[in-house]
Amino acid sequence: MNVKLLEMSQNAITVIYVACRQCYSEKFAGDVFLDSAISLAKQEEFVKKIVSSGHQSPLEHVKFTFAIQGVSRALTHQLVRHRIASFSQQSQRYVKEKDFDYIIPPAIEKNLEAKNEFEKLMVVIQQSYTKLLELLGQDNISGEMANQDARFTLPQAAETKIVVSMNCRELLHFFQHRCCSRAQWEIRQLANKMLEICVEKLPAVFAEAGAKCEALGYCPEGEKFSCKKYPLK
Ligand SMILES: Cc1cc2nc3c(=O)[nH]c(=O)nc-3n(C[C@H](O)[C@H](O)[C@H](O)COP(=O)(O)OP(=O)(O)OC[C@H]3O[C@@H](n4cnc5c(N)ncnc54)[C@H](O)[C@@H]3O)c2cc1C
Repeated sequence: MNVKLLEMSQNAITVIYVACRQCYSEKFAGDVFLDSAISLAKQEEFVKKIVSSGHQSPLEHVKFTFAIQGVSRALTHQLVRHRIASFSQQSQRYVKEKDFDYIIPPAIEKNLEAKNEFEKLMVVIQQSYTKLLELLGQDNISGEMANQDARFTLPQAAETKIVVSMNCRELLHFFQHRCCSRAQWEIRQLANKMLEICVEKLPAVFAEAGAKCEALGYCPEGEKFSCKKYPLK
């Protein structure tokens, strides 16, 4: 899995700080933005307070954009359920899946027999996919028209690439759900990698971020699903 930060909003701390200040100030946010009297350290302190107070709407003004590759379609199907985000995903219509790559779950990877079974199926799928393109070609159906039908055979394991943008408020929400041990392993891995980048780039907002329990101090998931890092509610 490769997770690369493409871009984040410039002057992130100042943008959040000024947005907060505008709520209570007679001054114009445009002037406050240029006011160098308030040090960045002071602004960061203020932003930390905002985050811990739960007054999160000013965090929506700052966004992060990530490029992600080496993940399964099973992962991206879960990822795109997060509606307060923007996505651009590699298309299985426009990009032919010749020699498609796939993700092997670690539990299957470490069981030799299971891994062989898994890989055997991937070979069969690849063969069928290629054969279908050939057969559709005989009916003069080619290019994206053929790809869009042949892809029905492709597995959730198929590797994909996606670009995702989320604002800081949505990222905090995403981490609460997807860094939790209850989340599926692959999307949890992705969430943890994204969190690592966010903490490095914007610690005032993300230093305390993570699964819900980190902020709550208890686990809301119930006995069956709790990892027991924190006591149950
Ligand atoms: C461990 C786990 C297991 C899951 N299992 C399943 C499953 O079995 N089946 C399944 O279908 N899904 C499942 N999901 C997905 C889950 O139900 C959510 O669709 C997904 O986590 C996106 O979360 P969200 O809707 O809170 O977030 P987002 O879409 O990112 O939205 C963020 C927040 O904005 C607000 N919001 C967004 N849209 C609306 C709206 N239309 N109306 C009102 N408020 C809105 C809500 O407060 C929401 O929490 C699972 C998720 C997790 C973490």
